[in-house]
Amino acid sequence: MKKSKKLIPTIGLETHVELSTKSKMFCGCPADHFGVKPNSQTCPVCLGLPGALPVPQKKAVVWTIMIGLSLNCKIARRSKFDRKHYFYPDLPKGYQISQYDEPLCSGGYMLTSQGRIRITRVHLEEDTGKLLHQKVNGRRMTLVDFNRSGVPLVEVVTEPDIHSAAQAKEIAQKLRDILRHIGVSDCDMEKGSMRLEANVSLTSDPHKLAKYKVEIKNINSFRFLERAIEDEIARQENVLKKGQIPKQETRGWDEKQGKTRSQRYKESAADYRYFPEPDIPPMIFSKQEVEKIRKRIPEMPDIVAGKLISEYGIKKQYLQVLMGEADLLEYAKDSLAEARNRNLDPDLVAGMIVNRKVDIKSTSPKELISSLIEKSKAVIGDETELLALAKRAMQELPKVVADYKAGKTASIAVLIGKVMKFSGGKADAGKVRRLLEKALR
Ligand SMILES: [Zn+2]
Repeated sequence: MKKSKKLIPTIGLETHVELSTKSKMFCGCPADHFGVKPNSQTCPVCLGLPGALPVPQKKAVVWTIMIGLSLNCKIARRSKFDRKHYFYPDLPKGYQISQYDEPLCSGGYMLTSQGRIRITRVHLEEDTGKLLHQKVNGRRMTLVDFNRSGVPLVEVVTEPDIHSAAQAKEIAQKLRDILRHIGVSDCDMEKGSMRLEANVSLTSDPHKLAKYKVEIKNINSFRFLERAIEDEIARQENVLKKGQIPKQETRGWDEKQGKTRSQRYKESAADYRYFPEPDIPPMIFSKQEVEKIRKRIPEMPDIVAGKLISEYGIKKQYLQVLMGEADLLEYAKDSLAEARNRNLDPDLVAGMIVNRKVDIKSTSPKELISSLIEKSKAVIGDETELLALAKRAMQELPKVVADYKAGKTASIAVLIGKVMKFSGGKADAGKVRRLLEKALR
């Protein structure tokens, strides 16, 4: 292969997110499975027992549409579930209920620092069980926990519009911020409620896709996403330099080795033998229904961030904290508006919220601002008022005044103490000292 042509990385992201609904997608079992005793949250539906019928949960469907709308997607007026067949021990039915050719949302985009990244689709499916590799009675075994089986899972797929590892990281982080902001998932990678996959290939012709595509799985942090893509780009470059074409395959990210490793050769859609789920009728949405869902979406983080900067001059480091947490951001937005109405320094308010000096669950924004105003009033700084108190102290303690005038300057502390007592502890002690020194001269 000629060296003259520069190889351009072409990257697409596939992100799986568990929705934080109370119950699973097609049954009433609790969906929150983290740290729960294995196989304690199952029923015939999510265990795939014969005869069990799935009933889709409306909330999960609405939340998926909210995700689609937040990513500027078109919402399907008609959508359906399909069966995706493959054999794996964590999939008790032998198929996963997913969406194939009629996803809920498609054709959207996200804005990034380097332009638009198109969103191919957003669809809803069910999560699988989880394999646990453990030693039981001294023997290495693989156990299956079905608590996760049937948890609502949304897949967000981007077009291969990404051209660097850093850009992929930016988009994944932005997606997490959006999903947390609209409150549909905690996107906690350590708990596995957000999982990243990247498709990577290299091409010398920016207008043509490569003939192969390598999928990297097992990525559970943004840092690993960046490193895995960087490593994969370098690996493919080496293969191409030798005049070979990289294999179409799935590779896993090996954290310890800091390398991607071949896992299996990739299935095509035909291998999954998709067909419409016969137990669930297609879903039909009216324009009005979609518009009603649109109204439930809060302003996007970017827009809120822009407003916080332009209207209140919020510090950048404060914004970074606020953007990662929907509750905190919402609280800050309301508190800052209240602070402005009552002439309180926005920086003081933002600082308190960001540094967790407020319990946002028990203190309303109005209460916070009121208490801050009370506190700011608490110190008496008015000189006329303080001077009057100082004179009163001097009148009441003529001996102390005489001592001071005789050179025992330390006795001023007694006078300051008296003023503090008169003011109920609210006087500005520094000012009181200065005023007393002046009056005693
Ligand atoms: Zn169940």
